[in-house]
Amino acid sequence: MLEKDFLESEKETVTVKCQNCGGNMNFDPETQMLKCEHCETVVDFDKSTAVEELDILTAFGNAEEWKDESSVYRCENCGAVVVLKMGETATGCPYCGTAHVVKTTELAGLKPTAVIPFTLSKNSALEKAKEWAKKKFFAPKSFKKNLYAENFRGVYQPTFTFDSKTESYYSARLGTRHTRVVGSGKNRRTETYIVWRHVSGVYNDFFDDVLINADTAYSQKTLNKIMPFDYSSVKVYDSEYMTGFMAKRSDKPIETCWDEAKAVMDSAIKKRILSRYHYDVVDYIRVNTTHTEVTYKYVLLPVYLLNFNHKKKNYSVHINGNTAKVVGKSPVSFLKVLATVGASLGLVALVGLVVYFCS
Ligand SMILES: [Zn+2]
Ligand SMILES: [Zn+2]
Repeated sequence: MLEKDFLESEKETVTVKCQNCGGNMNFDPETQMLKCEHCETVVDFDKSTAVEELDILTAFGNAEEWKDESSVYRCENCGAVVVLKMGETATGCPYCGTAHVVKTTELAGLKPTAVIPFTLSKNSALEKAKEWAKKKFFAPKSFKKNLYAENFRGVYQPTFTFDSKTESYYSARLGTRHTRVVGSGKNRRTETYIVWRHVSGVYNDFFDDVLINADTAYSQKTLNKIMPFDYSSVKVYDSEYMTGFMAKRSDKPIETCWDEAKAVMDSAIKKRILSRYHYDVVDYIRVNTTHTEVTYKYVLLPVYLLNFNHKKKNYSVHINGNTAKVVGKSPVSFLKVLATVGASLGLVALVGLVVYFCS
């Protein structure tokens, strides 16, 4: 046992250092290989695309843990917990931008089963963020100026994807609007009335890869906004994809994520059932769904994060590590807004004066 542990940790150190100059080897999104920070030597590693769909029953309580192949860091400022490849050091928090990160003995949690690697380099992502910031007219100059590589970090966000075969018994009360002419003489008018009917039946469907965010601090809304990710590049998880990057530790149990996935499926099922009928109004629709052949993947998604503090408020910009789609809020410079409003008011006054003197 001891010997095995020793061999594994030795393997870790060999892959992290460059054989040529001893520099650090990081995962390089452009070549999809490990690349030396100093001499740019690249080394390939085994990649597998045979991502397994795991039975959900194995996940409840006995899924594989990440364990000792990783280091865990906690941010003392915002509480974010990140997981790094063993031997790597976190220098700052990607979520709040501070440097108050400390190594902890906390567990890393579930081991990911799959990863969508970064395909966009840090520099290309930074360029996209700069283009985005340029278009933010009211953003302060300091914001545009401070978009530099140091406070720009690549983080894998933890997500679950679920597959499920569904059978739903449903009943609903649907109404269609009709019109009729009532009254006579002056009181003759058209009125609308609703004809109600009950419908019921069985609806079968299959859901593939329903994606649920497994990080409570990261909003599903933001995730949905930067989607889609390049699912064709999904690989079996390997710690090599983590070198030079980090992963957010999941803080949402798979049971909770599965409940959320069921709710997503239920609302899709309701929509799909209703689309089979002609109706104008729905009184209610009740669906009772049984899920079978439920499988999951625990997938890491590539996101570049940029944090910016402006007047004690934290702003973050999120960039999809595959498509470079940028989502975020930029701070607003009060002076710029004032200047613009002032300028337009001035223009109005000027036009007023011209009209006054020329008429
Ligand atoms: Zn080197
Ligand atoms: Zn933080």
